[in-house]
Formats: sequence, C-alpha cells, structure tokens
Amino acid sequence: MNSKAIRKAFLDFFISKQHTIVDSAPMVVKNDPTLMFTNAGMNQFKDIFLGNEPAKSTRVADTQKCLRVSGKHNDLEEVGHDTYHHTMFEMLGNWSFGDYFKTEAIDWAWEFLHDKMGIPADRMYATVFEGSKDDKLDLDEEAKNLWLKHLPADRVLHGNKKDNFWEMGDTGPCGPCSEIHVDLRDDDQRALIPGAELVNKDNPLVIEIWNLVFIQFNRKADGRLEDLPAKHVDTGMGFERLCMVLQGKKSNYDTDVFQTIIGEIAALCGIQYGDNEKSDIAMRVIADHLRAISFAIADGQLPSNNKAGYVIRRILRRAVRYGYTFLNFREAFIYKLVEALKNNMGDAFAELGAQQQLIEKVIKEEEESFLRTLSTGIKLLDELIGKAKADQKTVIAGKDVFTLYDTYGFPLDLTQLIARENGMSVDEKGFDIEMAEQKNRSRSAAQQETDDWVELMRVDATEFLGYDRLQADVRIVRYRKV
Ligand code: ATP
Ligand code: MG
Ligand code: MG
Ligand code: MG
Repeated sequence: MNSKAIRKAFLDFFISKQHTIVDSAPMVVKNDPTLMFTNAGMNQFKDIFLGNEPAKSTRVADTQKCLRVSGKHNDLEEVGHDTYHHTMFEMLGNWSFGDYFKTEAIDWAWEFLHDKMGIPADRMYATVFEGSKDDKLDLDEEAKNLWLKHLPADRVLHGNKKDNFWEMGDTGPCGPCSEIHVDLRDDDQRALIPGAELVNKDNPLVIEIWNLVFIQFNRKADGRLEDLPAKHVDTGMGFERLCMVLQGKKSNYDTDVFQTIIGEIAALCGIQYGDNEKSDIAMRVIADHLRAISFAIADGQLPSNNKAGYVIRRILRRAVRYGYTFLNFREAFIYKLVEALKNNMGDAFAELGAQQQLIEKVIKEEEESFLRTLSTGIKLLDELIGKAKADQKTVIAGKDVFTLYDTYGFPLDLTQLIARENGMSVDEKGFDIEMAEQKNRSRSAAQQETDDWVELMRVDATEFLGYDRLQADVRIVRYRKV
C-alpha cells in the first residue's frame, strides 16, 4: 500500500464509524500565546475540551500537520539520526467529544490496525496507565480488560505517569492514555529479548505508533482531580510510522513518503542514498526539513529574525549546511525539491500546489542569502575549533559564537551542531551576554526597522489592495492583477 492509500484507508475507516473528516489546522499557530506551532492533532480542539466552545460534530477524524521543534516537544536533534522522529509529521487522529469512550476507541484501533491493515497480533503491544498514588488513581482496569480481548496478558503492559497520563497543562482536562507499540525486529532478534522489555526504551525497531487518550478528569488549581461531566477521546497516530510498518520497512525514510524526495536529492548531488552514513544522514535531514519549511511557508510563516520566523530560518539554514558539508552543494538546491514534495503530498494538502511558486521563491532566496556567508563562516569555525583543540580546550567562546551569528548568519544551534560533530561545545552563556549587549546598543541607537514589509506577489499591472498581517513582524502587501 502506498502512503496515499494508507492515509485514505484511515480516514475511510473512521467515516465508516460515523466520523466527520475535518481539515488539518494550520501548522503555524497565530492566536495562541502558549504555542507557536501545532504539535498534536488535539490542538485545534483545545477549546472544546476546555468547554469554551461546543463541538460541531461529536465524532471527527483527520490528518494533522504537526511540527515538533520547540517547547515541550522538541525532536529536532533526533531527526535524521534516528529513523522515526521528524520535525514535521502527520498525526492521524480520531476524536469523541462526549460521545464514545474507551470501548470503541480501543476496539476500533484494534480493528483498523489488525483486521483491516493486517498487522500481526504477535507484533503488537498495548500499554495502560498503572495508576498514581499522588492522584489517588488505580490501574486503568477498564482499558486493560478491553485490550485483553485482543492480546495475551504478557503484551498488555503497565506504564507510568510520564508515558501514560496526558495533561494539557498544570490545570484543565487530562486523563490516562493507552498506547500501541509495534515490534519490527527480525525473528532471531525477537527470540533473544522479549519486545515487552524494549517498549518505550528508544529502540528504533520497537516503536510507539498510536496514542489513545481518555480525557475524563479536570485538574483543579489545588492539584486535585475531579471527574469531567462529559468524557472525551483524543487519539494520535504517526502517519509516517504507520507507513513504515505497513510497507515492511525499518525506517520511516525508506517509505515512499520520503524516498521520492531522497531520490531527487541523490540525483541532484550525484551521491547514492546508502553510500555512507554521513551523506545518508544529510539526505534524511534535508528531506525532513524541506517538509517543515514548505508547510510553514504555505501557512504564511516566512523565515525571519524573530519568533516562529526564526525557528523556520534556523531549520532551513541547518538543511543548507548539511547539503554544503556532506553533499557538496555550492548553490541553492532545496527549492528544487518542492516539486517532488508537492507530487507526493499535494493531493492531501492542496496548499502545496496553490503556494508552490511562493514556497520555491522564498526558499531559493533564503538559501542564496545564507550561501553567501556560509563558506566564510565555516572556515572561521574550523579555525576556531582547530585553535581550541590545539589549546586543549573543548568549549568555543561566546564572543566567537556571536560573531558567527551576527556576521555570518549562523544560528546558535547550528554552531552547536557543528561543534558537537567535532567533540566540542559552545559557551551559551557568553553568547547570551553578547546578544543582550547588542540589543542594548541597537535600542539606544533607536534604530528604525525597515525590513518588516514583505512584498509577496507582484504582477505587472496591479491594483493595490491593502496589507495582510501575518504576525507581529511580517506584513504582506497585496495586489490584484488588473
Ligand atoms: P515518542 O515517544 O516516540 O517520542 P510521543 O509519545 O512523544 O512519541 P505522542 O505525543 O504520543 O508522541 O504523539 C502521538 C503519535 O505521534 C506517536 O505515537 C507517534 O506515532 C507520533 N509522533 C510523535 N512524535 C513524532 C515525531 N517527532 N515524528 C513522527 N511521528 C511522531
Ligand atoms: Mg516524543
Ligand atoms: Mg512516547
Ligand atoms: Mg505518546
């Protein structure tokens, strides 16, 4: 089954269970001070769970564009090095708002994965919440008994609060969860160590695919839990991981979701995927980052120098550097991959086609601008590393890290990454001090910001329409062709 068929199978399955399919919310969050990017399918339903908004439909399902690069969920460092964490990924999900509860959620998860998709029972593990003394909660017997209808007792595992209890924040809706993990190891490996011992242990072949959350409590300000009047279900399944399992692969990157893009990168640089570990990591990182950047731009978040815009700029520059150092790219190339991405995901996410030109233009300009200073910056950093090694030091001074940032456009985390590749670290505190001093200097000079107007699409004969505000620091000038 290719990825398009798998996505459709999931949505069709929940339509058959009377769910309404809703669109993915934008990946870029504009009106929530607590969140820059959507990091889970439930984000767009937050107000329903909080009781601030009624549900239009009590059963919904979707595939949600997520980005985990900041805050509580930051998977950036894993990307490309492990086989199953991405920055941008799709989270498939189904929800009940005060409608069905544990029985249907568990039975349907089983029916979909086992009966419909054919994942063998002896490859699956379920976890249930073990309870917590602090909260006066017992083992989630109800969930456990539901799983025991499908799985033998040695594959229904008890999990702690960290893995099996979900909370939105310090207060508010929360509840136990139950996760499904799949063992993809070869038989000889499975004979050596039981999969149960590897669940939630960062083993790349015994991985979590689906999290079923049962929202049944409200955490009060004093920490106590009270029962919610209406109970909800909130589930999230990693689409790329599901594709890996169903396509019989051992890495998300070996599925068609990524292979079409990786094939394109390999063709552009003339290095085969699989040739060596370093170029493979670079190709995986670039394929991953391309998705994050493209979806962010399609959602209106351009690379910039602050907040969400800087997160996107950092991701893009990271990808450029991987291409430069490990794949010998000396000219802009990432923008050329947008076409392959659109061919792959454009049917499920129409914004990729609708905004293709804009995405390519923004990426190309951003790549070219960084490439202008990248080689000089890398040379300087190499010298700094060489000198530090000669002096038997393992830390690069904050002042130097700041020069790389200020003069050569190296985001802190990029310098950290390169330092780490060389067995070094950077003086983050020293960097922060330099940064604070520079801010003071520019504040006292009362510098005027001139670059916060971004002209997106200007056609030859145009009529001025007005300004769109995307975020505090980016405004778009709109024109209509006349
Ligand atoms: P993990 O323990 O593997 O980091 P998680 O417990 O942080 O996953 P959840 O918050 O429960 O993940 O999200 C629901 C599902 O989304 C997971 O079961 C997984 O399949 C998928 N998922 C989570 N993070 C990522 C990621 N960075 N890339 C791809 N899929 C992910
Ligand atoms: Mg995680
Ligand atoms: Mg987990
Ligand atoms: Mg989880």
